[in-house]
Amino acid sequence: MRYWAYFAAKLAVAGAASGGLFALIRWIWPPQPHLLTQYPAVFGRDLGYTLAVGLWFLISCGLLYLCVWDQRYRCRVCLRRLRMPIEIGSWSRMMLLGRPRIEYICTWGHGKLNVEEVQISGAENPAWTPQADIWEELTGAGSKDDGS
Ligand SMILES: [Zn+2]
Repeated sequence: MRYWAYFAAKLAVAGAASGGLFALIRWIWPPQPHLLTQYPAVFGRDLGYTLAVGLWFLISCGLLYLCVWDQRYRCRVCLRRLRMPIEIGSWSRMMLLGRPRIEYICTWGHGKLNVEEVQISGAENPAWTPQADIWEELTGAGSKDDGS
């Protein structure tokens, strides 16, 4: 829930920035003279305005892409950026290690994200694997064997 709320907040900020930029374009551009009751459309008739709106559209698409791209590489629990990308798998040892992919982990141990290196059958969503605590195994915390 928190993950999607953060994504919605990012989209709202990007939408507000995009809307503000569009309002700025509308504010900067001189108003068109109207003919009696008709207001001729500026878009498509004025090259400068059309170019500005085209750039605004590209910037808005870029902002949307950045929101989705940033969200994809965030921890689903704590929303921190995923770190420590390592390449696992091998094409030459595919039967043993699997297909090559890049694995990111949350440094706080909430889970890992596997991103396929090559998208063979179209765009594949990265697989998020939640884990209780990946550092517990290394630190030995919670081990019942105390040697006595
Ligand atoms: Zn986390």
